[in-house]
Amino acid sequence: DRTKRGIVIEDDWPGYSLDLFTYPEHYHTDIECVYIPHGVIMDRIERLARYVMQDFGDNNIMVLCVLKGGYKFCSDLVESIKVLGRNSNKYLETRVEFIRLKSYLNDQSTEDLHIIGSRDLSFLRGKSVLIVEAIVDTGKTMKALLKHVETFEPKMVKVAGLLVKRVPHMAEGLTDYVGFEIPNHFVVGYALDYNEYFRDLNHICVISKTGKLKYKV
Ligand code: 5GP
Repeated sequence: DRTKRGIVIEDDWPGYSLDLFTYPEHYHTDIECVYIPHGVIMDRIERLARYVMQDFGDNNIMVLCVLKGGYKFCSDLVESIKVLGRNSNKYLETRVEFIRLKSYLNDQSTEDLHIIGSRDLSFLRGKSVLIVEAIVDTGKTMKALLKHVETFEPKMVKVAGLLVKRVPHMAEGLTDYVGFEIPNHFVVGYALDYNEYFRDLNHICVISKTGKLKYKV
């Protein structure tokens, strides 16, 4: 089912030249191209909001936002859901809770997943939960989080991922609402970081070699 894959960006997509858009000047040499412009992200989110509304029906939504990368996607998705509600006279209550995970060092996924902050998610019990994550790569993080969430016995759990990477052994069906399926590049912007840099970039961009070296820890 192709719609499950979201907007598929093929391996040969070169992105848009930086000159065609505006972006923070200090990243001039640190990014290769604009991979997904901010406006396209917003348009896709509007559609994802509709899928969410259809699935959740009359259930109030307990949104679990995965920090830090998911904060922009989460706020824009929740806003879209609210606008849809207002326009269709169908008001779902949305409550947002946050969880912070860390598994990356530089651009490498590390084995250990850390839940930073409270591990007690008992407020999820009996609720219809929407996990909102910016990017699913190997799927390890999401699998671990799902397992943890399930222990609190929610009524239902759905996963929204703005980006899903096309990697070998992709975890099929892990993400219910996919914004974009992308090739295996390291991307930044729209709250996605590289060692805390680039969160202030509004487009999703591919980082350059220079950028990787400059902000390496
Ligand atoms: P996974 O466990 O699926 O391999 O990794 C998921 C996590 O890795 C995401 O939550 C995100 O923090 C990080 N990640 C994976 N790919 C990228 C990427 O291309 N760019 C950025 N900024 N983070 C990524």
